[in-house]
Amino acid sequence: MDDARNRLLSWCEIDVAALAANLAAFRALLPAGAALLFVVKANAYGHGLRLLARLAPELRVDWLGVAQLEEAAVLRAEGWSGPALLLGYVPRASLADALDLDVDLTVYDPATIDELDRLGRARGRPARCHLKLETGTHRQGILEEELESYLARFRSGAGLRLAGASTHFANIEDTTDHSYARRQLDRYRSLLARVHEAFPAATAHAACSAALLVMPETGFAMARVGIGAYGIWPSRETLASHAGRGEAGVRLLPALTWKTRVAQVKWIPAGAFVGYGCTHRTSRRTRLAVLPIGYADGYDRRFSDLAHVLVRGARARVIGRVCMNVAMVDVTDIPGVEAEDEVVLLGRQESDEIKAADLAAIAQTIPYEILSRISPDLPRLAVDGTGSVRSGPA
Ligand SMILES: *Cc1c(COP(=O)(O)O)cnc(C)c1O
Repeated sequence: MDDARNRLLSWCEIDVAALAANLAAFRALLPAGAALLFVVKANAYGHGLRLLARLAPELRVDWLGVAQLEEAAVLRAEGWSGPALLLGYVPRASLADALDLDVDLTVYDPATIDELDRLGRARGRPARCHLKLETGTHRQGILEEELESYLARFRSGAGLRLAGASTHFANIEDTTDHSYARRQLDRYRSLLARVHEAFPAATAHAACSAALLVMPETGFAMARVGIGAYGIWPSRETLASHAGRGEAGVRLLPALTWKTRVAQVKWIPAGAFVGYGCTHRTSRRTRLAVLPIGYADGYDRRFSDLAHVLVRGARARVIGRVCMNVAMVDVTDIPGVEAEDEVVLLGRQESDEIKAADLAAIAQTIPYEILSRISPDLPRLAVDGTGSVRSGPA
């Protein structure tokens, strides 16, 4: 094992070749010439924002997308000088900082637009805005009846440039019935036509991973791909809907392996209680491995007594409650487990795999949440296809 890892308690390995392959697969779903925006919000879905910002050029993505201003600052600090889109709200007092970072902004309210106009004029360089169009998600987005006044605002705003017009689907991951998404697509097309009459150069973008996988006609001039680029299916429904494509279908390769190592192994007697709340009582003499990982690291407390980890190529079940920084697993049936053995919490080890979807099912949530809550404090290491570390901790 590489020296860098010997000193770590818990870490994530990011397979760069897997990321590149997934992104290439999404690019192939896009119309020729369309741009690929890689969504790296939430610490790049747990994969490490700083690491991904540095890898972005070799991954050959056109844009990076983040939710918050602070994330955009990290992209620039790590040397990403390409286009970046802020997807979320920026406080008006921080809009000047966003323009200093030379990023595009998603806009959907008049006060933000007024402030950007003022700042753009003062700098002699218009603020690049992507107008969010409401098509049925009712999160951000401007209503159809407001569109004309927004377009007028962009026509008169010397400090503004309408660089894009976007929307976002509400019900594309959660179902195999895409009728709601189709209605949103129709509404988007009709709003977009009005935007393009006034601003023909505005970049049209609507698709997230699932949209591109199940309705490639949502690709337009740019797609905003997150979860799928990390090699994770947005949902079982998306996988089922896409599976109809057969051989033409996309194969996604999970890029993240979350690892820790055994901190102690010991025998405890039959009838012993394990952990807080005495929720688990051994039914036999048990070989217990103590892991230095807990809910403070993002290893969800709901995994208590339910999740498995991989050690020496075999599955060991978590027994007792997951603690803040510690979890216990039963290794009675796995010969030879020793302190410092590598343990996979999420990902592949030899022929077995713990999937983000498995852990999500246990915690009654979605893979997005499992990944994005892996503590940002844990080191992220880029690895090549053979699992060798390519660079130091990010
Ligand atoms: C997070 C996000 C995406 C990416 O969605 P995935 O399902 O991860 O591909 C795209 N667009 C917007 C506006 C988002 O917030």
